[in-house]
Formats: sequence, structure tokens, C-alpha cells
Amino acid sequence: MTRPVYRVILLLAILIFPAPLIAQIGGKAAIPERIYVLHESDAVFARFKKEIALSKRYRGRYVREYAFPALEYAEYYLKPGDSLPSVAARLGISVDAIASASGVVFVYAPAAQDRILIPNFDGVSYASSGSCTLAELAEKYDVPAGDIMRFNGFVRDRLARGERLFVPGASMDPLEQGMFYGTAFASPLQEVLLSSAFGSRNDPFTGHRAFHGGVDLAAAAGTPVYAAKEGVVEFSGWSGGYGNLVVIRHAYGYRTLYGHLARRDVDAGDRLRAGQALGRVGSSGYSTGPHLHFELQHRGQAIDPMLYSTLQHRDRPAALPALP
Ligand SMILES: [Zn+2]
Repeated sequence: MTRPVYRVILLLAILIFPAPLIAQIGGKAAIPERIYVLHESDAVFARFKKEIALSKRYRGRYVREYAFPALEYAEYYLKPGDSLPSVAARLGISVDAIASASGVVFVYAPAAQDRILIPNFDGVSYASSGSCTLAELAEKYDVPAGDIMRFNGFVRDRLARGERLFVPGASMDPLEQGMFYGTAFASPLQEVLLSSAFGSRNDPFTGHRAFHGGVDLAAAAGTPVYAAKEGVVEFSGWSGGYGNLVVIRHAYGYRTLYGHLARRDVDAGDRLRAGQALGRVGSSGYSTGPHLHFELQHRGQAIDPMLYSTLQHRDRPAALPALP
């Protein structure tokens, strides 16, 4: 299964969440060990499984008596039939731990032969965006700052951009988890009829190939449009090709955009609940007929809303796929 969509997601994953390919332990680079088979007969698998089980005793307080092993990562190449959840289950570790260490931000993204990284301790690997301090990180994941320092071998509060840290015992926050499983954003329309997908397409006006940064959802003019997630209205007004546009800012650098509206019922600064009506479908701006242009951005970069929302999608498997 080498659909182009998976390649794009993987690339996106690498851009958004650079993986700690080499774990820094006490300032010394450790070369990852390799797990070949997910079975007790594989010595590295057996050791990691034991150490992961021991790590479950960590309950937000570092206790010396447990003699936790130093943090290590093992690499593993996914085989046909594997998925991140199935690998996690074999090792008794959380999906969050493997996904965050491997830089995989979408559950369907990895393919057979893809390299993943498995820590010997349950928790999340965090890549700093440069705006967060250690104290804030400790609060976000509810783990003592001293333990984060102990695991990562440094003593300071300010985190550098791109710095990678391991947060012991932590799990992804609800939004990260929603993004990972593709349920973070709800549909902005009650009924969804996809008329133009995300990505490269022929421009309806010029006939040239152009990048489409959102999805077009066909609907009768006047159909109510709902906020896909709670957030604050950042913009409500006319914006060139978008026509009547509403932009909502959500937590952690996400934005949703609703274009070509006939009517806008919200103002900049309004705080919206998920599912709250914000306007009506129209054909304003650069549009060939009534439809909603729905766009999802992360830190200013457009990502495919079909993958991170509960909208129906023909490319999206109904059940967790086994790799070919
Ligand atoms: Zn569009």
C-alpha cells in the first residue's frame, strides 16, 4: 500500500515532529539497538519488554529503589500485518510512546519497511517548538520537572527550538490524540459531499495544475456551517478568492478556515463551541457554485482535513489497516 497520500503524511510527520533518531543519554549519543522479531526469542525484544513493564511502576515520582534502566530506544522495521497499535500491544507499551518517538502523527501513516523507534520506558518524546519552558512542559504532562531533567540529563528551564525530550509516564494530550486517530475535528456540515479533495488538482478557472489547500464540500446555498472544534474567531470578513471567510484559531497552533460563505454570523474575538453555527454556505469569491471551502492548518501549513477529522473519506480505511 504505497498510496501517495501516505507518502505525503509521512513527509508531513517528519516535518512537524522530528524524531529523536539518536537518543541523547547524559550527553552521550546511544546507537539504537534493533528488534528483529516481536517475540521473546529476540533478545532485545525480551529486554525491552521487561524494562517497559518495570517502567509502569513510575507514577510521576522517581523512586531510586526501582533502579530504572537508562533511557534507550530500539529500532524496528514494520512488517506486513503490523500496525503501531499491534506493535505497542506486543511490547506492553502505549501507542503514544512509539508514535511520538518515531515522529508518526497519524495512525494510518506508517507502511511496511518503515523504521520506528521504541523507547524502553513508557512516556512521550517531545520536540520543543522553542516557546515552552521545562516548567510548562512539566505542567502540561503533569510530570515533575526534576524527573524530566533526570531522564534527559540537563539542568535548565528554557528549551531550545527543536530540542527533543523524553517525558516519563506521559501520554499525548487529548488534541494530539485526536489528531493521531483522525477524530480531532468534526465535520463543518451536517451532510458531506466531497466535490474537490485536498492537494494538487486542475484549477477550475485556468485548467492548470494548482495546489488546493483545503477540501470543497458541495451543499445547497444557505446550509448552516458549524465550527469544527472550539476556538476563537480570528477573522470574519471578505478575503479575496475566499470571499466571505471565517477563520477560527484552536489550541496548539491549529486553525480552521471556512470560505465562500453567503453569510457570516460571527465576529473576530467571538469564542465558539464545537458545533456552533458560524454562517451559511454560499458562492462568494473565487467559486463556481455554492460550496464550502474547508481548510485545516497547523502552524500556518495546510494539512488534509479528511485525515484529521470525522469527515467520511474514500481513502480512509474503515478499520485499522494491516500493512500489505
Ligand atoms: Zn476549495
